[in-house]
Amino acid sequence: MPLPQSLRMTRQRRLILDELRRLKTHPTADEIFQVVKRRMPRISLATIYRNLDILSQAGVIQKLETAGLQRRFDGDISQHPHVRCVKCGRVDDMTGDARPPRIERMPRAEGYAIHGYRLEFLGTCPQCGKGGGNIQ
Ligand SMILES: [Zn+2]
Ligand SMILES: [Zn+2]
Repeated sequence: MPLPQSLRMTRQRRLILDELRRLKTHPTADEIFQVVKRRMPRISLATIYRNLDILSQAGVIQKLETAGLQRRFDGDISQHPHVRCVKCGRVDDMTGDARPPRIERMPRAEGYAIHGYRLEFLGTCPQCGKGGGNIQ
């Protein structure tokens, strides 16, 4: 994937981006920190945060907005729906076609031009669902 010309790729930034693209777990800044630290022991959490901000502003990574939880990041910037486990907070990609609602059935907000939407499903992950019986 080509990177925007304006984005200066420092060694730290490259490493964060590589790790984030490799991980499929939609990690939090803390989790990225733990992984990157192994290869760059002197990096700080503040540096991770700053670089995640720069990378997401450049559109190279995705910041996932999940209400009331720690922010997660995605190295995959294609539009795809996510499912979040209501028990452990784990976030996974979903496959298949997430069709946007027909325009005439879209909700409206007075005075707003709508640019897009995010789709997040809630569920119970395989790990949390084990032995738990049926969770409604
Ligand atoms: Zn779970
Ligand atoms: Zn994703």
